[in-house]
Amino acid sequence: MMPFESAPQTVFPLFGQGRHLLSVSQFDLPTMRRLFDLADTVTPIARRQAVCTVLDGAMLGSLFFEPSTRTRLSFESAFLRLGGEVTTTTGFTFSSMAKGESIHDTARVVSGYSDVLVVRHPEAGSVAQFAAASTVPVVNAGDGAGEHPSQALLDVYTLEKELGRRGRPVDGCHIAILGDLKYGRTVHSLLKLMALHEDIVFTLFSPPSLELPPEIDAYVRQRGHRVLVQPSAVAAVAGADAVYATRVQRERLTGEVTQAAGGDLLNRAILAEADNLDAILMHPLPRDSRPDSFDLSPDVDDLPGLAIFDQTDNGLIVRMAIFLTVLGVDAEAVRLTTKQRPWKASLQP
Ligand code: ASP
Repeated sequence: MMPFESAPQTVFPLFGQGRHLLSVSQFDLPTMRRLFDLADTVTPIARRQAVCTVLDGAMLGSLFFEPSTRTRLSFESAFLRLGGEVTTTTGFTFSSMAKGESIHDTARVVSGYSDVLVVRHPEAGSVAQFAAASTVPVVNAGDGAGEHPSQALLDVYTLEKELGRRGRPVDGCHIAILGDLKYGRTVHSLLKLMALHEDIVFTLFSPPSLELPPEIDAYVRQRGHRVLVQPSAVAAVAGADAVYATRVQRERLTGEVTQAAGGDLLNRAILAEADNLDAILMHPLPRDSRPDSFDLSPDVDDLPGLAIFDQTDNGLIVRMAIFLTVLGVDAEAVRLTTKQRPWKASLQP
C-alpha cells in the first residue's frame, strides 16, 4: 500500500512545445484555450471522418506501471490517429524495473527510443523524477495519488462543452465533487485547473477520512473560489450545474475506514431528492460495479446530463492536442496532412 503523499510543490514551466506535462499548474487560461482550440481542430480525425499523417515518423513510448484502460488506449490511439507509431510496456513485471532498475536509468534508456513518453506510475512525484532523467518530453498519465493532468484537461474541456450547450460559461458555475477526494488524483488536478476560472462554487462530499487534502482546499480558496464541505451527497448536489463523482481508490487505502455508508455514492434517488435530475453528470471512470463499491450507480445512465462517455470520447481529442503541442505542430500542419478516407467504420442500423 502506498501512503498518501502529495507530489512535491515543484514549479514547472508553462506547457508548450518541448515541455513535459507533469502538472495542471503548467496552465494559465490562454495556454488551456490554445490546447482546446487545437482539440476542436482534430475532432474530425478523432471521429474517424478524416485521416491524418502529421506525426509520420514520430514514436511514442507508452509506459504504464499501474493498471489503465482508457488513459493508455486513448493516449496510444491519439498518437496513432495522427500518423505516429507507438511502443508500449505495461506493469513492472514486464520491464527491467522488476530487476531493480531505477527510474533514472529506465527514463534515460527509453527516451533514447522515442520522441515523447507517456508514463503512469504508482508513486506521487515519480513521473517528475522520470522526466528529470528523460531526454524527450514526458507526459504524466497519473502519478499515484498525485496528479492526472490530461484527465483534468479533458474534464474541463467536456464541462465547457456541456455548459456551453446550456448557454452557460464555466465562470460562475457550481460543481459538486463527490467520492474519494483524498486519493482521487483526477479530483486534485480538476480542482486546480478549475481554479483558473472566476467565481466557482465547489461543494464537496466524501466518505469519512477520504477528505480533500488541505493544501488543495487552501489553493482553491486562495484563488477566490467558494469551497463548501457538505454532510451528504444530497446537500452537495443540490443546485449544482455539474456533479463529478469518483470511485474509492481502494488500491491506495492505508487503513482508512473503507466501509462507506453502504449503497451508492450517487444515484437517481439522490439527484431526485436534491431536485437536480438535469445536472451534468461526470466521472473519470472506471466506475466500480462491484456490490457495495460506493460509486456512481448505473441507474443514472438515461438521465439527460450524463456526460461520462463524452469525457472518454473527448479524452482522445484532448490527448491528440497534447501531442501536437509538445511536438510543435500547429493547426495548419494538421490541415495539410489530413485527407478524407474511403472506408466507413460506423455500424449499420
Ligand atoms: N482512471 C482514473 C485514474 O487513473 C480514475 C480512477 O482510477 O478512479 O486516476
